[in-house]
Amino acid sequence: MRKKIIAGNWKMNMTPTEAKALCETLVPLIKGTKNEVVFCVPAVDVTTVVKAVKGSGIKVGGENIYFEDKGAFTGETSADMLLDAGAKYVILGHSERREYFKETDADINKKVLKALEKGLTPILCCGESLEQREQGITIDWIRMQLKIALQGVSAEQAKGMVIAYEPIWAIGTGKTATTAQAEEVCKAIRLLIQELYDRKTANAIRIQYGGSVNAKNAAELFAEPDIDGGLVGGASLKADFGTVATA
Ligand code: PEP
Repeated sequence: MRKKIIAGNWKMNMTPTEAKALCETLVPLIKGTKNEVVFCVPAVDVTTVVKAVKGSGIKVGGENIYFEDKGAFTGETSADMLLDAGAKYVILGHSERREYFKETDADINKKVLKALEKGLTPILCCGESLEQREQGITIDWIRMQLKIALQGVSAEQAKGMVIAYEPIWAIGTGKTATTAQAEEVCKAIRLLIQELYDRKTANAIRIQYGGSVNAKNAAELFAEPDIDGGLVGGASLKADFGTVATA
């Protein structure tokens, strides 16, 4: 039985002071859940959030890493930096990074390999545009994104990973995929993992849905057989996340 994993993606929101206050609101609402809950936060907030959630069972993640260990890469954050600050997870390949920062599938593959080498668990994002959905190439597109991102990842490593299916047209738009649409793609992702590795790996890997998840739709989405939780943007910044994270 896979443990559900609900992760908040704070994006570029919350100063350390605001982050501390948000944790004070959310921690009591999430206490005692059987789900695994992760707050993925800006790098500058990691230390504050790790301290603020201490003892609650909530884990902390970053929103990106660079694929080199260290050196002259001004403005970047390494896997070691996140780990040392107390993060356990990292979001990789989010569509906003692909679009605004021109990250390619090959870059994302290097980041996935670096995170795994260092012991950070990747939450690997994939997803189609509205145009691709309308062209009927959603599953082909996602298979391609994942095949490249997972190059060189072993079955043992893949088992512990999280994949987030996030249709781009549903992110931050209030337009959620229907439960059937979300399940169809998450199931196709699990089949791809079985094809690339084996049934055991496909049964172990956790696949999230992300895209306008909120307190009203979370329970229905997360009840689907191949949806093991969610990656949540907007709703992770308010008390609603208490309902989403415990759904
Ligand atoms: C996200 O940023 O990963 C996301 C799914 O955002 P939202 O929940 O706001 O659509």
